[in-house]
Amino acid sequence: MPELPEVETVVRSLQKTIGGLTIERVTIRKTASVHPSPRQFSRQLRGATVAAVTRRGKNILIRLSTGDTLWVHLKMTGHFDFLPADAPTTKHDHVIFHFRGRDETLRFNDYRRFGRLRMYPTESIGKQRGLAELGPEPLEITADDFTQRLRRCRRMIKPALLDQTFLAGVGNIYADESLYLARIHPRRSTASISLPKARELHGHIQAILKRAIRLMGTSVDTFIGLNGQSGRFQKYLQAYGREGQPCRRCGAVIVRKAIGGRSAHFCPRCQRAK
Ligand SMILES: [Zn+2]
Repeated sequence: MPELPEVETVVRSLQKTIGGLTIERVTIRKTASVHPSPRQFSRQLRGATVAAVTRRGKNILIRLSTGDTLWVHLKMTGHFDFLPADAPTTKHDHVIFHFRGRDETLRFNDYRRFGRLRMYPTESIGKQRGLAELGPEPLEITADDFTQRLRRCRRMIKPALLDQTFLAGVGNIYADESLYLARIHPRRSTASISLPKARELHGHIQAILKRAIRLMGTSVDTFIGLNGQSGRFQKYLQAYGREGQPCRRCGAVIVRKAIGGRSAHFCPRCQRAK
């Protein structure tokens, strides 16, 4: 699933391509992808100008001139293409946006069909389930707030980092990479992590997310950006997806183990369990 840097990459591309454009009409080919009803969805979007495209955690928020916000979650395989209107559509192009005075259309394509496009009034969208309970943004939280939150939550560190109510936007890739850099075992209890170590982890999380944004995300599994563009961060992964390969710090073999129901990649020598 796309994580913060991947979603941020999509947000920036969308802002550049559709920011300021006015929607002329919308074609919905897979009705389950949208909320409210397809008819209402199309009606509310007609004539709306895209005011701003922003991100909250792994969610895309497209603010419209009409007082509504279109909330997009890409889930596993959702992505956008901005293509000439006469370019052939594919079976998985579920929603197509036509713009006033423009030849290109924006298509929401989703092979696995878990992605959702939902519309709510901008003033109340933050109260919707899925947005309301999100924790702080990892690039905005201070080191002090982060360490305090960590101390209070008293659970294994890896599941805590994946919990969107603890921190919004970090997923398996960047949790594994941050823990590797901070030399923290993924099973380690958050309460047992020393203050300096917690501050170090905060620094690594921020640095790695910023670097991944610069490299337009990590394209492993299924992530592609606008028009199929790949990210480049996968070249720099140190732990995630490297099971069976030597640790770049100490040469021990990177392992992959189920922790908290998800697979964690780590170096058993650099990241000792206490
Ligand atoms: Zn190592």
